Amino acid sequence: MSELHLKDALDTLKTTGVRITPQRHAILEYLIESMTHPTADEIYKALEGKFPNMSVATVYNNLRVFREAGLVKELTYGDAASRFDFVTNDHYHMICQCCGKIVDFHYPGLNEVEQFASHVTGYKVHSHRLEVYGTCQDCLENVEKQVL
Ligand SMILES: [Zn+2]
Ligand SMILES: [Zn+2]
Repeated sequence: MSELHLKDALDTLKTTGVRITPQRHAILEYLIESMTHPTADEIYKALEGKFPNMSVATVYNNLRVFREAGLVKELTYGDAASRFDFVTNDHYHMICQCCGKIVDFHYPGLNEVEQFASHVTGYKVHSHRLEVYGTCQDCLENVEKQVL
């Protein structure tokens, strides 16, 4: 499954004329496999052992290239560092308000909401973003431990 995604992503880069360097390959692979919506810093830390000459700025630049190629979505949350998500199919996000962990969940597309929003505002809708906030299982367990 993830190998297929990686192959598709590399094909997309090829057709858009983006050179596939070992770093780009590794960053893409990490994004597809981690499923954790990492920040550029987290990607850097995960890969710096493999690429000692790589900087956080390089990671950012590569992520920008991926975003422009439509492979990666940048998720911004106020002042917090952007998180990056490999674009597969449409999905929504559940966000832990304690540790910031983001997990994906799938739900039927909310087309009626877009249609309704367009109808009441007169806007032409391009996309929407749905986030659900809560406390993840790890954080819930930590809270329980502190109480005991
Ligand atoms: Zn958490
Ligand atoms: Zn996601």
